[in-house]
Amino acid sequence: MTRLTILGSTGSIGASTLDVVRQRRDRFGVYALIAGRNVESLARQVAEFRPEVAVVAEAADVDRLKTALDGLGMNGSDRPELASGAAAYRAAAVSGESDCLMSAIVGVAGLEATYAAACAGKRIGLANKETLVAAGELVMKAVGEHGAELIPVDSEHNGAHQCLRAGRREEVTKLILTASGGPFRNTPREALKVVSPAEALNHPTWKMGPRITIDSATLMNKGFEVIEACWLFDFRADEVDVVVHPQSTVHAMVEYNDGSVIAQVCATDMRMPIQYALTWPERMDAPVPRLNWRESRRWDFASPDLVKFPLLRLAYEAQETGGSATCVLNAADEVAVEAFLGGRLGFTGIAEVVEETLARAGARAAASIEDVLELDRQARRIASGIVEERSSAPVAVSVRASEEG
Ligand code: NDP
Repeated sequence: MTRLTILGSTGSIGASTLDVVRQRRDRFGVYALIAGRNVESLARQVAEFRPEVAVVAEAADVDRLKTALDGLGMNGSDRPELASGAAAYRAAAVSGESDCLMSAIVGVAGLEATYAAACAGKRIGLANKETLVAAGELVMKAVGEHGAELIPVDSEHNGAHQCLRAGRREEVTKLILTASGGPFRNTPREALKVVSPAEALNHPTWKMGPRITIDSATLMNKGFEVIEACWLFDFRADEVDVVVHPQSTVHAMVEYNDGSVIAQVCATDMRMPIQYALTWPERMDAPVPRLNWRESRRWDFASPDLVKFPLLRLAYEAQETGGSATCVLNAADEVAVEAFLGGRLGFTGIAEVVEETLARAGARAAASIEDVLELDRQARRIASGIVEERSSAPVAVSVRASEEG
């Protein structure tokens, strides 16, 4: 029986992880559920999966969780230990009662607990992007030193992990990650200035949380994946290619030195890579749709447009720069995406804010996770300042109007 701690249980990956557990109660159990603010959903999960620990982000929400559990009739010894905050996330991640951490919080809030699990030598199913984008060097060092197992859940890296089983690392010449191209693949560059959050949230092939959906529309997400792939599989950025593949059926390909290419192909259902991360090196029946190879289909592949989607270019550059550049990239993007969703920044402004933040913040090495978190805070302050400056700057049209008046 594999007992899980799920960081971000109320999110999209968290819910899919619980569905994998639900299908195979004989193989999987839940030790701890960790959520942010969605106390009602967490309480329902607690009632169904009976973890020993349930954690929320804020201390003030523990009482709300108690009330929600009371409402579900869980007010006695059947109630799990309740806690809040980062120290409780870390304790649940490293507990001897937990065999595996599913790292599926969105944002850097997941970093410390994931790092702690690596230092405790745990199996980690890694969905959270920020762990490797912000602190790849430190996390991979901890994984190596403490014998942890870091199995990627993101479909592209999970696909690459499977493709890489076909040969030795030194036989690999190239890793190719696919990108759906997002909702604006065919939108002219000029029209991107005025796209709305609702249009950007309408992803063609995947149903995901809001931040990653916007990051998919800007191709920032693919840039993060290039950075993650470099850390996970020990590649240089120029050994990782991105190709646009709108059908999202081929998730990754690995080219070997004899010219042979191994591709990983499956339906778009996150329960497959989640289950793989829990059972590797074994495989197990998964309740996911199967591809019908008798149906006619086409697969398209094309180069990404780095002029239209500059965040992918910035990700390559940040990985090559090294040090804190990728941490800054992530922090600035999170601030800019929030401003876009809040109507304070246009879609093309996301890349402009990120580029300007990278230029102002510079890059230096981080010696510890605390250092990474401080660099992250600094970058957020810079990015927020840039968003403010832009929203208080006079817009060209009003200047012209007053000149004419
Ligand atoms: P969601 O937005 O659906 O869920 C985010 C989860 O994180 C929720 O459970 C939320 O809790 C929790 N959370 C947010 N902030 C905190 C905090 N401060 N403390 C504790 N919990 C917090 O995101 P996704 O599930 O889509 O994505 C999760 C991660 O996985 C992201 O890093 C994403 O990039 C990555 N990923 C996602 C994929 C997908 O298909 N969805 C694919 C590949 C990677 P609450 O709702 O209770 O506030």
